[in-house]
Amino acid sequence: MMDKLLIDIHQSLGISEVHLSTNKLKFQPQPDLNSLEIVEIDFEGKPFILQASAAIAWRAMKDAAQKNQIQLKPFSGFRSYLHQKSLIERHLKNERLIENILTHIAIPGFSEHHSGLAIDVHADGKNILEEDFEKTQEFLWLKKNAPRFEFRLSYPRDNDQGIIYEPWHWYYTGR
Ligand SMILES: [Zn+2]
Repeated sequence: MMDKLLIDIHQSLGISEVHLSTNKLKFQPQPDLNSLEIVEIDFEGKPFILQASAAIAWRAMKDAAQKNQIQLKPFSGFRSYLHQKSLIERHLKNERLIENILTHIAIPGFSEHHSGLAIDVHADGKNILEEDFEKTQEFLWLKKNAPRFEFRLSYPRDNDQGIIYEPWHWYYTGR
């Protein structure tokens, strides 16, 4: 299931068998690169990448939101194993414990972002990836309408996956 690259990444981050065995997230293989596309350039100038099926659903959802004067802005889509590693390394440099980091950043190989089917949404005027995203009109719109486009909230409050509440993180289930 896990390739050599992932095993090396885990080793270099200090992720042990114990961390892996208590991990409740599903393994997320990286898709074939040909199935990914750059959907748009995000507000930070980064490419926002999804699998083609999720990209179609995202565009339809974004258009529908726009008709209600809601601007859905993506922050993260597809993310590689190595990118996930660099996110964790940044926190390790700040001397945070790996156990604490893993409550809000998935072990490389286990982030839904590897699938190209997950999207983090940003709202103007808010800090990125913070819980008060749930107070925005963007969130209220998504809560009501995202299921129609086959997106679901992956990490609701008090989820049993060991991940903090992430109102900004939506996953495309329609594939
Ligand atoms: Zn996310």
